[in-house]
Amino acid sequence: MKSVVERLRGDAPVFSVEFFPPRDAADEAVLWRSIRELESLDPAYMSITYGAGGSSRDGTIRNIARAATETTLVPMAHLTAVNHSVAELRNVIGWYAAVGVRNILALRGDPPGDPYGDWVAHPQGLNYAEELVSLVRSLGDFCVGVSAFPYGHPRSPDLDTDTRYLVRKFNAGAEFGIAQLFFQPEDFLRLRDRVAAAGCDAMLIPGVMPLTTPRTLKTTIKLSGAPCPQSLLDRLEPLENDPKAFRAEGLDVVTELCERLIAEGVPDLHFYTFNRSKATREVVQRLGLVPARAQNPVAAGR
Ligand code: FAD
Repeated sequence: MKSVVERLRGDAPVFSVEFFPPRDAADEAVLWRSIRELESLDPAYMSITYGAGGSSRDGTIRNIARAATETTLVPMAHLTAVNHSVAELRNVIGWYAAVGVRNILALRGDPPGDPYGDWVAHPQGLNYAEELVSLVRSLGDFCVGVSAFPYGHPRSPDLDTDTRYLVRKFNAGAEFGIAQLFFQPEDFLRLRDRVAAAGCDAMLIPGVMPLTTPRTLKTTIKLSGAPCPQSLLDRLEPLENDPKAFRAEGLDVVTELCERLIAEGVPDLHFYTFNRSKATREVVQRLGLVPARAQNPVAAGR
């Protein structure tokens, strides 16, 4: 099975998709319908996030294992250091390897319950993602990615410090970084410039959320950690009470953002799907990221 970076080395840009672990059986059915619908469009890889609690973590491991064994997709598992001893982390990494998952997004994670609360490491655990990158790399032939923050991580005192620690994650063995949500292409491109200026040529991938509802806009604002530009609010806020018009404008906004990023040579657009496929399918089809054979699975003989 190919690694994430091998999937991104082609001449043309690609897209990838992110899901979260389902909460119950009904959720799991929705997740799997979306996975199957997106699988037919041949994303470069798919990932499942890693939660703070036992059942959610089981959901990540179970579903990423299923993706590895029952689909044609390249799976990437997220993993965090939250409430895990190093011995437990070794176990999870071992499970991932045992089911054929060779790509891991190594994250520090946030304190459960309060993402902005003080970080408390497990007494036998790790403090920073950098250490998790080293641990994963020491345990086998894994392709490791990390998170990156266009506006800087909320806990970073300034962008220079933030860039320094990001580059340390690459120096520890991470091969690519996926960026937190942002609003304008320049915000991502400046992150890429900062990393390049630090002498690092690791691959940086923009995270993209289809803006289908006012809720997805609020989530983007919250996760990005930055205020939304007025020009974007001017386009979307007047449509808040018209779901159809909001969705149409929101997908236009995201498509324009992606077009500019593609023109700037990004290797991959990583979509936060919220376990639904429709909006992502629409955007990637508009962007021409879907190979012709995948647009017509019948003709392709699948
Ligand atoms: P780190 O890289 O460890 O950074 C945390 C802070 O410490 C930063 O301010 C950094 O600058 C600083 N720092 C780093 N190294 C050092 C050092 N050596 N010394 C001093 N300071 C240092 N969370 C989940 O719970 N599950 C997920 O599946 C998940 N997936 C994500 C996917 C993406 C693409 C992104 C962008 C985020 C994701 N997150 C997820 C959220 C992430 O866990 C949080 O943002 C968390 O606060 C930081 O994790 P990190 O890996 O960036 O931490």
